[in-house]
Amino acid sequence: MKILIADDRNTTRFILNQNLTKMGYDVVEAPDGEAAWKALNSDDPPRIAVIDWMMPKIDGVEICRRLSAKTTGPFIYTILLTSKTEREDLVYALNNGAHNFQSKPISPEEIRAHINVGKRLVESDDKLKEYAEGLKTYAVEMERLATVDSLTGVFNRRHFLELASKELSRTYRYKRALSVILIDIDFFKKINDTYGHAAGDQTLKMMADACIDALRDSDIFGRIGGEEFAAVLPEIAAEDAFTVAERLRKTLSLIEIVSDEKIIRMTVSMGVTAIQAGDRNIEMIFKRADEALYKAKNQGRNKVVLI
Ligand code: GH3
Ligand code: MG
Ligand code: MG
Repeated sequence: MKILIADDRNTTRFILNQNLTKMGYDVVEAPDGEAAWKALNSDDPPRIAVIDWMMPKIDGVEICRRLSAKTTGPFIYTILLTSKTEREDLVYALNNGAHNFQSKPISPEEIRAHINVGKRLVESDDKLKEYAEGLKTYAVEMERLATVDSLTGVFNRRHFLELASKELSRTYRYKRALSVILIDIDFFKKINDTYGHAAGDQTLKMMADACIDALRDSDIFGRIGGEEFAAVLPEIAAEDAFTVAERLRKTLSLIEIVSDEKIIRMTVSMGVTAIQAGDRNIEMIFKRADEALYKAKNQGRNKVVLI
């Protein structure tokens, strides 16, 4: 650990340097306040600072005050050295950010003890920060996991519907268009039965990837059931949504999934609908898309139906 000795007297620096080097510290010296402040603001600053109160350029209390006001950089433990012995001087120094106060002449034993306290505090502060950092990373990852489907990586049902609902509110507010496409893989059960569940999973992944590739960034896409997906297309009216769905249907039918040297192909059926007068919530729109999807299945599958 690096330790700073800031004092304008060569002899004080010399004695402290000898003592602290013996204790195994990496000693940095500063002959005045400006050099001390510079060292404390370096990329890898000393974590304990023994600072003389009376120094040229910037005094020790001012350095402690500046350090305690800093919002960036690591915690630095400060021990203020002074020939002042009055109680109010001690109070003044502590109130201005110093962590400790040592009257000259220095007792090496006492300063060693205080440096050990500083070391413990620095180490526990580092541990706390590391722990907090870990918690933050964990929270971010948990939040992400709560919004995506673990198999395909696209939005899960809950998050998809939340985003769809928000988009619908925006659509109402600005009197814009909005369409919904429901996509269901045809005879998916047969893919599972013929090629195995793992191959079925792979098919779902490829299908989701292909949809994400085909759709726009502004579209919302999610997995809303086992082999059922949905897309919300903001600003897109019914006929254009039908065209998008038709193009997607063809694209998906051309995908070849290789599993155990066998080639799997799939087709999908889609129900398409756009926002209509009287739609009060996203559920009503999805209900209509579901009816359209049901029709597409009944009409022989591999088909898009617009209601
Ligand atoms: P249809 O054309 O009428 O949609 O027929 P289908 O076989 O696709 O539909 P059905 O609802 O009968 O079967 C869906 C199948 O999807 C049944 C279920 O085991 C399977 N499935 C659901 N989730 C997953 C999954 O995560 N992985 C795999 N491999 N299969 C799944
Ligand atoms: Mg299906
Ligand atoms: Mg289904």
